[in-house]
Amino acid sequence: MTNLQLNPIYAEMPVTVFEHMSGLARSLGAINLGQGFPDTPPPAALTAAAVRAMETRSQQYPPSMGVPELRDAVAAFYRREQGLDLTREQVVVTSGATEAIAAAILAVVGTGDEVLLFSPAYDAYAPLVRRAGGVPVFVPLAPPAWGYDDAAIRAAITPRTRALILNDPLNPTGSVASAEELALLARIACEHDLVAICDEVWEAVRFDGRPQRSLLAQPGMAKRTIKIGSAGKIFGATGWKVGWMVADAALATVLGKAHQFLTFTTPPMLQWAAAEGLADPAITRTLHAEWAASRRVLMDGLAAAGFKVLDSVATWFACVDLPASGIALDDRTFSERAVREAGVASIPLSALWEGEGGPTTILRLCHCKPPAMLEDAVARLSRWRESL
Ligand code: GLN
Repeated sequence: MTNLQLNPIYAEMPVTVFEHMSGLARSLGAINLGQGFPDTPPPAALTAAAVRAMETRSQQYPPSMGVPELRDAVAAFYRREQGLDLTREQVVVTSGATEAIAAAILAVVGTGDEVLLFSPAYDAYAPLVRRAGGVPVFVPLAPPAWGYDDAAIRAAITPRTRALILNDPLNPTGSVASAEELALLARIACEHDLVAICDEVWEAVRFDGRPQRSLLAQPGMAKRTIKIGSAGKIFGATGWKVGWMVADAALATVLGKAHQFLTFTTPPMLQWAAAEGLADPAITRTLHAEWAASRRVLMDGLAAAGFKVLDSVATWFACVDLPASGIALDDRTFSERAVREAGVASIPLSALWEGEGGPTTILRLCHCKPPAMLEDAVARLSRWRESL
């Protein structure tokens, strides 16, 4: 019998809801519409680029800040897609966006610092803030609009507030902050001298026909914003774990120091392949069209089967209102039962909400899947609902 003193943040924490549901889906052979990832391989050109880089270039440590080709390609991609004016010095390549979030939090947050999070919040944010010694302060967003409210945000700010974490577009709701909301968040960040950590991994997964507008581009935000992106999301290659942070060059240098003692660096062949992919707009256009089509299959299929789908414009997810769909179960019970009894894995929105008062009857379903799989999932859910 040992008496090891482990950090209670991890010792008392359950495995993530994504890992939990994917594990259940694997062991039960259920259709997995829980964790967000496409079922098809990434574009062949990208795989070919990675293989070529592996065979003909280096497989040794690349520079900790990232290979120059990818740092340049990220800057050029954001210039082309979002009109941002960036240089290589402003890009730090990380092993996925989750590492970028960790590095940003470690670089910014110290003991007792308060960090504003908006609920629903991606599950990694709060534990990382706590592990950095900080205190997460949740500002709830209310359905169906999930809007940012001036008074609610200001009421959560104290002299110890140091940063805010904005996920835009927002997972799990698929909502996007309006121009007015971005201006509001920028004004508040400037007035209170806050760092904005902007998780924008869904920036290329928008279905409203509009380009992403980053908080980074708002007045006064260039020097205080850390914009996080993900090749895994842009190319539907979630296992690649290639992400990045973009910030003012001085801030990026400090972020690089947090990154160097997390993963130090990221597989170079995947970095070179991601750089090639970012330079070719046809790759992202084709992928986006496929995702838009499969999204319609799930949304229309659910609606035709009498499920109430909430409005959304982005991400790989659709949210279903359970009571409005004639289902009298809370979202956690629904998820746990549906994976076993209907053979469909999903994510309960309340798993991304800490504390009381949040919605408990909204279900998240992933739609970047083959149409036949989505149709099968809707049929299974519909049949199972009849038996409830
Ligand atoms: N971002 C993914 C999702 O929301 C989950 C990633 C993970 O499992 N860590 O489904």
